[in-house]
Amino acid sequence: QPILEFKDLSISYTPGKNAVEKVNATINENTITAIMGPSGCGKSTLLRAINRMHELYPNIKISGEILLKNNNILSIDPILVRRKIGMVFQRPNPFPNMSIFENVLAGYGLNGIKLKKSQKKEIVEENLRNVGLWEEVKDSVNKKGTFLSGGQQQRLCIARALALKPEVLLMDEPTSALDPISTNRIEELILDLKKDYTILVVTHNMSQAARISDNSMFMYLGELVEYDSTRQMFTKP
Ligand code: ADP
Ligand code: ADP
Repeated sequence: QPILEFKDLSISYTPGKNAVEKVNATINENTITAIMGPSGCGKSTLLRAINRMHELYPNIKISGEILLKNNNILSIDPILVRRKIGMVFQRPNPFPNMSIFENVLAGYGLNGIKLKKSQKKEIVEENLRNVGLWEEVKDSVNKKGTFLSGGQQQRLCIARALALKPEVLLMDEPTSALDPISTNRIEELILDLKKDYTILVVTHNMSQAARISDNSMFMYLGELVEYDSTRQMFTKP
C-alpha cells in the first residue's frame, strides 16, 4: 500500500543548481527505506522537504509533488504536515530546559494541542515503553532529558517523534553519533517500529542499511540513481 510518493520533485537553494533533481519514487506502508549517497547528494534536503522544514531556508525553490496518502504535502498547512511526519536527527537533541516527561510531550506543545494530566501520563508512559526506555526512567521522568546517556537520549527523541502518532518517521543518521551497543538497540527498535510506522532512514552505513531496510535508495548529485529492494541491491552482480 503506497503511503508516500515523490513526483518530479526538484529542490534548489540557488537558482540554476538543484540539490534534489526530478526524484520519482513510491514508498509503501510499514517499510523501512534506507537513503544513501555521498555527502552533499541531497539526502537531508529530501528529508527536510517531507516535513516542510525546507521552508526555513529563505531562497529555496521546490517543484513537483510529495504525496502523503494521495494528499500533496506541499499544499497542506505545514503544522498539519509536521503532526503526521516525525523526525529524528543525527545528534540526540532533547530540549535541554525540559524534563524527560515534558520532552515526550513537546510535540503537543509545539502543535498547540491541550491535554489533561491523566492523558499526559498515559502518553508519556506508552511512548517511553515503545522505545524501551520506561523501565529505565520511570522513577526519574522529572529529571532533565539531557541527563540521560546518548543512546537513551536518542530513544527519548524517538519517543517524542512518535508521541503524535505520525504516519511517517524520518531519521537522519540516527545512530552515527552513538556507540555500537546503543546503535544496536536503536536498530532493533527501528525494526520493531516497522509494524506501526513507515520509516525513512538516511545512513552512511551500508551494513546498517542491509540489516534494517527493506528498500534502498542511492542518491548522487541530487538524483535518485537507484531504488530497489535492499536484498536485490546488495546481491546484484
Ligand atoms: P550533512 O551532514 O547532511 O552532509 P553538512 O555538513 O553538509 O550536512 O551541512 C551541515 C549544515 O550546513 C546543513 O544544515 C546544511 O543544510 C548546511 N549546508 C550544507 N551545504 C551548504 C551550503 N553550500 N551553503 C549553506 N549551507 C549549507
Ligand atoms: P546530504 O544530506 O546528502 O549531505 P544536502 O541535502 O545537505 O546533502 O545537500 C545537497 C546540496 O544542497 C549540496 O550541494 C549542498 O551544498 C546544498 N545545500 C544544502 N543546504 C544548503 C543551504 N542551506 N544553502 C545552500 N545550499 C545548500
